[in-house]
Amino acid sequence: MNLLAVALAALVGLFLGGLINLLLYRLPRQRPLFRRPHCTRCGHPLGWEALPLVGYLLQRGECRHCHRPIPRFFPLVELLTTAAFALLTARLSVRDGGGLFLVGLYAFFALSLILTLFLDWQYHDIYYIILIPTTAVALLGHWLHPRLNEQQSLLGLAVGVAFFALLFFFGQIIFRDQALGLGDVWLAGMIGAMLGLPGAALALAGGMLLAGLSAGLLLLLRRKSTGSYIPYGSYLCMATLTYLCLWAP
Ligand SMILES: [Zn+2]
Repeated sequence: MNLLAVALAALVGLFLGGLINLLLYRLPRQRPLFRRPHCTRCGHPLGWEALPLVGYLLQRGECRHCHRPIPRFFPLVELLTTAAFALLTARLSVRDGGGLFLVGLYAFFALSLILTLFLDWQYHDIYYIILIPTTAVALLGHWLHPRLNEQQSLLGLAVGVAFFALLFFFGQIIFRDQALGLGDVWLAGMIGAMLGLPGAALALAGGMLLAGLSAGLLLLLRRKSTGSYIPYGSYLCMATLTYLCLWAP
């Protein structure tokens, strides 16, 4: 393992994590993306305080202007992107010479997954503006690295969409339930295009299992009623991210 490459990748992941946080805050509010960062509580313009992780740690988790807590998902997102980039580089780049393109592709997938995970979790919404370009990159990825196979990507896309469309219609007709949204169906397609088979089947099954387990646990703890929202998309992204970083060939 090339330690310098892993450290560099972690640093790039850390800064892109800061960028993901900007998107995460501004996309749902339709704020301009390219503007100086501000405190999300008091609106004070930020300088070094906006540095990923460092700003959070140096301010001890609260804005130094208004002293209100900084939302915990900010450092969480930055930690996740850092860990994902470091893991992918440690696992893939040394094994074959042309690994840089593969790491780049997987890192791009990881960013889309992390963004979608938190958007669904916090705003209960899946953004096609993220799904469509990522699916396109996954389908064209074989031009960058032969590990991504064109037929596998197409097959994964078709199986993901078909299986989740079935679940969606069953949910609507039998349970009259909006548990799965159409966004989840296209998200399953994107995951299929990224991983092909059998990777996508494993990741999607893992996501459904995670969603079921956490829904059961929350019901047991009586934190949730049977009708409350379950961010299926977030669980699918969690499982896919884990598979991508730890096992994807
Ligand atoms: Zn503030």
